Amino acid sequence: MSASGQKRKAPGDVEDMPMDWDKLGFDFVHTDFMFVKEWKRCSPPCTGALRPWGDISISPAACALNYGQGIFEGLKAQRTEAGEVILFRPESNANRMQNGAERLCLEPIPVQEFVEAVKSVVQANDRWVPPYGKGFLYIRPCLWGSGEVLSLVPPSEQMFLIYCCPVGPYFKGNLSPISLQVAAKNHRACPGGQGGVKAIGNYAPGMQPAAEAKKLGYNEVIYLDAAEHKYIEEVGTANFFCVKTGIIYTPTLGTTILPGITRASVMQIAKDLGHDVREERVDVDFALGADEAFGTGTAAIVVPIGKINHNGREVQLNRGEVGEITRKLHDTLTGIQKGKLPDKHNWIVKVK
Ligand SMILES: *Cc1c(COP(=O)(O)O)cnc(C)c1O
Repeated sequence: MSASGQKRKAPGDVEDMPMDWDKLGFDFVHTDFMFVKEWKRCSPPCTGALRPWGDISISPAACALNYGQGIFEGLKAQRTEAGEVILFRPESNANRMQNGAERLCLEPIPVQEFVEAVKSVVQANDRWVPPYGKGFLYIRPCLWGSGEVLSLVPPSEQMFLIYCCPVGPYFKGNLSPISLQVAAKNHRACPGGQGGVKAIGNYAPGMQPAAEAKKLGYNEVIYLDAAEHKYIEEVGTANFFCVKTGIIYTPTLGTTILPGITRASVMQIAKDLGHDVREERVDVDFALGADEAFGTGTAAIVVPIGKINHNGREVQLNRGEVGEITRKLHDTLTGIQKGKLPDKHNWIVKVK
């Protein structure tokens, strides 16, 4: 509902043409419902509820808008072959949001409340969950400081919102490697900062370096550590992995690397498959000599890296082709997420 109470048209509305699931990409599509809980003039406990998708009202002096006091999450729901709708590790997103809330002085959302709210949004938007194999429903929980501030004190008012949007598969056909440029002068995060939590301000400083890399024909940027400019931290919006003589390496978490749930899942799957997985500092020169490299994240899952440019030197990895271990990890993780492979670690949560 917009402020005037008129429902906005969304592509795929029942009164519209049915959604063409084969054309589903990564553009934002409005769905029917969102979840909103506002800590505002309510005597605790405040309660949240579903309401029709639409604009929200927020003070111009809100802390989130002025000082960036906000965090977000990203997870997905998928339809199984049998038609059930399943989530992947939603408690992990809930836990991560709690850590972020603590770092940015927001009131944490209890894990069960988070998971139940996510389920309610998915259920209410069931017709937007793509058919099996056609994509997924991306779910975006947000926690924002909505209280009015001038001086720098944490406000007492906040908003917890969850909306969702159907998206197509990242790779429509076969997996294909991407090319990356190592950022020469920009960094994503500094030690002790907010890079280790999903803060709303983390991506804005990456837009310019990513746009410059794209102009030169690269898909994204690799960030090195801000202290020594020597060790790989992350690929713009994904965690980094490389493989050398069968051993899998990924940078150690700290305050500068986002603890990806896909990262944790890939590490577990690799161990289950018998690989030696090491979390350590990954020197960029070591990575340039790796046999395979890939990025991980909720939307892209496992993305092979075929080319890296560092200081003007362009290196091909695995002859620019998808590595064998990369493919195996991708196929295993997507198999579990789709409900096709056994879920040994109880990662799948049914929406009912
Ligand atoms: C969200 C995010 C990731 C990936 O995390 P997942 O939980 O795997 O989706 C990686 N890096 C950054 C900077 C992120 O914001």
